[in-house]
Amino acid sequence: MKTKLEYQSDITETNKLICERYWLREADKRSGFIYTCKEIGQEFDVKHQDIPSIVKINSHLVVLDCQCIDCGKTKICYTRSQLIRLDTIRWRCDDCREALEKRMDQEYLEYRLKQDRLAEERRQTALEHINQCRNTQLSSIPSVTELNDVDKLLLAV
Ligand SMILES: [Zn+2]
Repeated sequence: MKTKLEYQSDITETNKLICERYWLREADKRSGFIYTCKEIGQEFDVKHQDIPSIVKINSHLVVLDCQCIDCGKTKICYTRSQLIRLDTIRWRCDDCREALEKRMDQEYLEYRLKQDRLAEERRQTALEHINQCRNTQLSSIPSVTELNDVDKLLLAV
């Protein structure tokens, strides 16, 4: 995993060393962290609970081989757990994830509207069919004048 550590421009020398230690990994492995926060805290006389926040404020790790699958933005980590949990193959940045969720909501809404429209169309078709049947039945009963015509014809033969 290729990564690059970047610091805030106003970082102190001590904090820079703390960040370096925090992110230092064996052979650049994802979770091959060499120092524990406790060890770093002892070395710099800082409470070990404060190490992650010092690191988070002063630096970030650019994960060079992890890009957003939608926009191509490179992933940035602020904590070790972010790096460990990271899905490098299918990572999607916050903006793109939000956009995707909106798109899916919209698609679902359109799907529901379409279903409603189809149900309405089916209802209309059924109604037309019923009306047609009714009309056919009505027209199949010969009218009186028609009967007369037929009778006339028959009489004529
Ligand atoms: Zn993106």
